[in-house]
Amino acid sequence: MKKIIDSIKSLAKNMPPTTIMEVCGGHTNVIVQYGIRNLLPENIRLVSGPGCPVCVTSQHDIDCVIELALNKVKIAAYGDVMRVPGTRMTLDDARGKGAIIKEIYSVTEVLEKDYVFFAIGFETTTPMTAYALSKGMSVYSSHKIMIPAMKALLSGDLKIDGFITPGHVSAILGSREWKLLNVPQVISGFKPEQVLTSIEKILQLISRRKKSVVNNYEEVVRPEGNRKAKKMMMEQLKLVDSDWRGIGNIPLSGLEVRKPKQNAKKQYNEILKKVNTKEFIGCRCGDVLKGLLEPEDCPLYKEACTPATPKGACMVSAEGACSITYKYGKI
Ligand code: SF4
Repeated sequence: MKKIIDSIKSLAKNMPPTTIMEVCGGHTNVIVQYGIRNLLPENIRLVSGPGCPVCVTSQHDIDCVIELALNKVKIAAYGDVMRVPGTRMTLDDARGKGAIIKEIYSVTEVLEKDYVFFAIGFETTTPMTAYALSKGMSVYSSHKIMIPAMKALLSGDLKIDGFITPGHVSAILGSREWKLLNVPQVISGFKPEQVLTSIEKILQLISRRKKSVVNNYEEVVRPEGNRKAKKMMMEQLKLVDSDWRGIGNIPLSGLEVRKPKQNAKKQYNEILKKVNTKEFIGCRCGDVLKGLLEPEDCPLYKEACTPATPKGACMVSAEGACSITYKYGKI
């Protein structure tokens, strides 16, 4: 480890202030838990991006699924999303009011039953949704894909010099596709030393002015990705514009169910068109997700907003920057 840190320090010596963003909650966990930010020279800044699937799910989607549940539609949802505040309540609250909402770890638990699956997440979780759709299940899709969001961030307010590119998403997508971003990137695994070597490799790319992609997770990620999973995804889902919490609408960054009969947004349109979403103004999740604000700089952090009283999704999910910071200390 010392050797890698020395190499990072030596590379950083002649560099201007440099910002590297990680876009995976798994990486944020490792970085904060092992104090990796504190090991880096002052001119090298690590910031967290929109890598937490629950955090980027729009409040409107949360409100819509709550509305379905309150209207006696049986819902299956991942546990992490149950306590995310909607405009009126959480899915957990709706369950308290008698709605049938099954908390699941895998969609296979409710396959071929009369549940609507609230599908969230990136390329990592989408293949399982595609599988559920192939078995005839109905889905409310809030799925998103990473590359358009990262492109949007590159043209935003924060100057990003390179990305620690998500390992699990890359396992599906492959390493080649990231070249589209035209920015220094290293696909990283999740051990602390892998994250450190990824930072070292990004600094090498930046210092050589190379806008290329290095695969530092070769044991899992292939250049072409998982072809079978990608084919199944595109058979069942299609690209659409999508709302990201706090970031806004990003063209062609979401995935929608192709078959109207299995698309809960179409099946229950009459119920859903009445949903009126009002964003909670005090929460700064959007700025946290764009790397513009550290959780501790949100006025509500540790005051009104704690894991027991979350005001935003970033404090609910185990992959959210606010809840990770709360758990392990300063980012
Ligand atoms: Fe939102 Fe709470 Fe994070 Fe502030 S600390 S940005 S209120 S989730």
